[in-house]
Amino acid sequence: MSESNLGVALTKELCVVCNKEVDGAIVMNTRLTKSMANKVEEMHGKVVGLSDKPCPECLEAVGDGVYIIEVDEAKTDDMSNPWRTGKQWGLKKEALEKMVEDKKMLAQTLSKQACYMPIEICEMFGLPH
Ligand SMILES: [Zn+2]
Repeated sequence: MSESNLGVALTKELCVVCNKEVDGAIVMNTRLTKSMANKVEEMHGKVVGLSDKPCPECLEAVGDGVYIIEVDEAKTDDMSNPWRTGKQWGLKKEALEKMVEDKKMLAQTLSKQACYMPIEICEMFGLPH
């Protein structure tokens, strides 16, 4: 426990693709109280959620491509943590460019390199099931 009123924690996240633990955000408390500092320090080394980018190994495997992670919207309550079917595909950048016409969406997806996609859309794009 901290003796000071400023807590710092290096959190862990799970890779959105392979579920491996990776370093997450560094959290600091801005309310300078001892109890808040302790709460922040309790987060140190704990998994706080899913990463929004794949881990370095997954990124190396996909190059400049993108991971498509299939989700079931009917079984999802929390859009930040959608229900996954367990199916995922690594796509080349060129393949995604042919699938997604919306330039803004394409740029966002390519920059994050991971994308949740509902079953219906995965089937529409002809991803193998
Ligand atoms: Zn990974």
